Amino acid sequence: MYASIPSFSSSSLVSRALKPPKPSSHCLSFKTLTLTCTSQTKPKKRATTNAPKPTSKSNRKPSYGTSRRSVLKKTFNQEQVMFSAPVSNDPVVAIIGGGMAGLICALNLEKRGVRSTVFDTGIHGLGGRMGTRIIDPWPLIFDHAAQFFTVNDSRFAELVDCWLEKGLIQEWQGIIGELDVGGLFSPFPSSLRRYVGVNGMRPLADSLLSETCMVNVVRPCWISKLEPFNGMWHLSENGKPCGEFDAIVIAHNGKCANRLLATSGLPLIARQMKRLELSSIWALLAAFEDPLPLPGGAVTSFEGAFVKGVDSVSWMANNTKKLLRSQSSGPHCWTFLSTAAYGKRNKVPQENIPTATAEKVKAGMLEGVEAALGLSKGSLKKPLYTRVQLWGAALPTNTPGIPCIFDPQGRAGICGDWLLGSSIESAALSGMSLANHIADYFQSGGAHPEEFAVGLQNEFQPLEGHDVGQFPGLESEKKQMNEARAYQLAS
Ligand SMILES: Cc1cc2nc3c(=O)[nH]c(=O)nc-3n(C[C@H](O)[C@H](O)[C@H](O)COP(=O)(O)OP(=O)(O)OC[C@H]3O[C@@H](n4cnc5c(N)ncnc54)[C@H](O)[C@@H]3O)c2cc1C
Repeated sequence: MYASIPSFSSSSLVSRALKPPKPSSHCLSFKTLTLTCTSQTKPKKRATTNAPKPTSKSNRKPSYGTSRRSVLKKTFNQEQVMFSAPVSNDPVVAIIGGGMAGLICALNLEKRGVRSTVFDTGIHGLGGRMGTRIIDPWPLIFDHAAQFFTVNDSRFAELVDCWLEKGLIQEWQGIIGELDVGGLFSPFPSSLRRYVGVNGMRPLADSLLSETCMVNVVRPCWISKLEPFNGMWHLSENGKPCGEFDAIVIAHNGKCANRLLATSGLPLIARQMKRLELSSIWALLAAFEDPLPLPGGAVTSFEGAFVKGVDSVSWMANNTKKLLRSQSSGPHCWTFLSTAAYGKRNKVPQENIPTATAEKVKAGMLEGVEAALGLSKGSLKKPLYTRVQLWGAALPTNTPGIPCIFDPQGRAGICGDWLLGSSIESAALSGMSLANHIADYFQSGGAHPEEFAVGLQNEFQPLEGHDVGQFPGLESEKKQMNEARAYQLAS
């Protein structure tokens, strides 16, 4: 039943506990200290080197937050960090990013007996692009990035079964389909199972580590520097130390990751990350007092639709129906997602959206909703509540097509959806894969690092189906729908 996503090494997917501790050397050391490493010496040591001492008063720009050109230059000029001593008896991994990939990586490291700390920027919770916004006291509820997920791979299916058993997720059985401009709706066949978090995607992410005992979560925390020192990775947030680790996992992507990696001493990892291209997508959250006037009326009304032929909207979903099934009264909460083209045309810094842009996007997307539903311009009732958000690094548009990347010399890896696709499933499989790979590497004692290099040279290919909703399995549903349509037309 499940098609399998390619894996790069069978051993990386096999769960084995770490071997009994090996005799370790007392001190792990760098084999090669390079130009970059000199300036990467721990801050307190800086005074003894010729490197300029960074101070908050300095008018030089800090390395984190510099221009794109300078980030590029740093990325390509930095030299490789080499950890040469055997790995410690009881290694600890820092995972930077608490989205699906980072969380599953932590979970699988624990299964293999490896401790980890997950750092995440999330103020309201973990999950990254599995965001849910709840506004009390109504309550209004919106999944404002990932909408639902599908299951294709048997390894992910095992996890999903476990989440179902624990009551963390449920099947979304509402009608989903394609909505052509003008209000022409075609439902997908309901053969493919679609899942959602019981109270939204974020609560699912927040529960994933609840039963772990070897995972530490630090949130909100924005790791801004990675410094190799004395055989360990030292992490900090704007100068505040966040601990020392035997290995690091970069479980996020985009501008943040590029800047973090630009001066880390990991040129191979940094180069792969820089090759990644991402789309931008606007999300409009809107609560309406009355139900939206959907084509087909209340009986056949859909709960989710991929919108075709409208420039500003590519997806719309009724979150009240999806997440609050038993609620019979109250506002109707909808999430609308833009097309990538609209996102690109209206791109602004996502952390600082000008009011004029927010208003323009809101108006443009609501007009798009009217067009999609075949309503006359201006006839849609004004929502009670709206909010726009830009996902500046929304979905990958290219991929190396390998489950994870690992640089054994630098004891650093990458996991994330983009390594395999653009879905929750690909993020989970990537996290799983990297965890097993790192555990295998630790188990080897680090004696033959070259055997553990993965994905450092892989070329990227354009990612087909990188739009919202083009997740594993959905294509076959759409195909079935198109076949049914063609049959209807012919008969
Ligand atoms: C609009 C939209 C709709 C989508 N719809 C679907 C869908 O319906 N179904 C589906 O399967 N997929 C969907 N996706 C894709 C899905 O959300 C992603 O594939 C998946 O969530 C990615 O997980 P990840 O762990 O790789 O990355 P992310 O979720 O991006 O996690 C990275 C985390 O790292 C954190 N971080 C970044 N920098 C730092 C730092 N310096 N220090 C600490 N933490 C840091 C971030 O805050 C974030 O929490 C959608 C995505 C978007 C944007």
